[in-house]
Order: sequence, then C-alpha cells, then structure tokens
Amino acid sequence: MSQQLWSEVDDYLSGVLVPSDAALEGARKASDEAGLPSIAVAPNQGKLLNLMARMIGARSILEIGTLGGYSTIWLARALPPQGRLVTLEYDPKHAEVARGNIDAAGLGGLVDVRVGKALDLLPSVEGPIDLAFIDADKANNPAYFEASLKLVRPGGVIVVDNVVRGGAVTDAASEDPNIQGIRRLHEMIAAEPRVDATAIQTVGSKGYDGLTVVLVKP
Ligand code: SAM
Repeated sequence: MSQQLWSEVDDYLSGVLVPSDAALEGARKASDEAGLPSIAVAPNQGKLLNLMARMIGARSILEIGTLGGYSTIWLARALPPQGRLVTLEYDPKHAEVARGNIDAAGLGGLVDVRVGKALDLLPSVEGPIDLAFIDADKANNPAYFEASLKLVRPGGVIVVDNVVRGGAVTDAASEDPNIQGIRRLHEMIAAEPRVDATAIQTVGSKGYDGLTVVLVKP
C-alpha cells in the first residue's frame, strides 16, 4: 500500500460521495495562496464532521484549531440558521484568512473566530456545546479534552484529529510532546466514566493518521 494509492482512493471516494463546491475549493485556494500549511482535513473527513454534527442535530459547535477555516465551513454547514460555531485560532494570519473564507462561504453570521491561545480562550466559551472538534497543538490535547468535557452536553460528541501520527502514538517512550499529549488524552478518556469512545486509524490523502470519537454519555 502506498501514499499514491491512498490518495487515489480518497479522490475516488470524494469524487463519488463528496461533491466539492466553489466555497470549499475557494477556501483551500485562498489558504494555499496565503501560505498557510496544507494541514486541513481532507474533503471526505470534512464531510464526516458535517455528518456527525447533523446526526446529533448540533446547534452549537466548538472548534479548537481553525487554520484557514476549511473544517469550520464543513461544520458550520451542519448548523441550523440560528446555530453558532466558535472556533479558536492562535495565529492571527490564519484567523484572518479563515474569516475571509467563512464570509465567502456565506457563513459569517454563524461563526465566531476568536484569536489567541486556545487555553486562554476556552474559559470564555459558553456552553452547552453539542460537538467539539479538537485539531490544534496535540501536546495540549489533555487540557482541550478537559475543557471540552465541561462544555459539551450529555449526548454530545468530542472528535479529536491526528491521534495516530504515522503510528508514532504507539511509542510510550516518545519524547515528542505531541505524542505524549495524545497518549495522555486516551488515558484520560479511558478513565473518565462520563464518556465512551473509540479511535480509528485512517489512511488517505493526508497520509496515515487517525481520529478519536468520544460520546459524552446521555
Ligand atoms: N481544523 C483545521 C482544518 O481542518 O481546516 C486545521 C487546523 S491545523 C491542523 C491546527 C491549527 O491550530 C493551526 O492553524 C494552528 O495555528 C492552530 N494552533 C496551534 N496551536 C494553537 C493554540 N495553542 N491555540 C489555538 N490554536 C492553535
């Protein structure tokens, strides 16, 4: 199995099931042109987030890690007209590009892009949140999970991206704070009686990684 094959299969799946549109394409293009790193979720992953939010009838969404707003657009599209999405981004340039992309997608009225360190911003986020998507610096995943658990309502969902990192997550002795953050996150989830969770490995255009899905028990 190769990266080329994974990308071809992703192209096939997205081509059949995840039709693109001008707003999503525009968001990727504007992000690339502004020099943002190409680390947004893949189209089929964005659609998965959108479907999860719709499956639970999400009206309020928290995102930690905005980048250029690509996943934000997918998530915000799941909201009803009176819904709200708060997304937290450390880098002012990323936030500016994201605001442009979100406005161009016609979602500016639903989305609040807040700039700063997520750990500083999280105490001012108002609950209840139906779905939290954690996709920022992995070293802080334990703190993001703890904060999300305070905000997400029973029956709500927490999704954490990039939890496999090419398999590096299996290295218990890793000195990479990102790996330790992911491992600690999973230990916290396993010990937390208020939640139930699983994690899956993924391959595709974004390489070999994975995501953790947490249900806050009703
Ligand atoms: N969710 C985005 C998407 O799929 O389109 C991708 C997010 S990217 C993987 C991670 C983002 O988190 C970057 O834009 C980075 O600047 C931001 N970030 C990193 N550390 C952060 C922190 N401490 N607080 C808030 N944002 C942070």
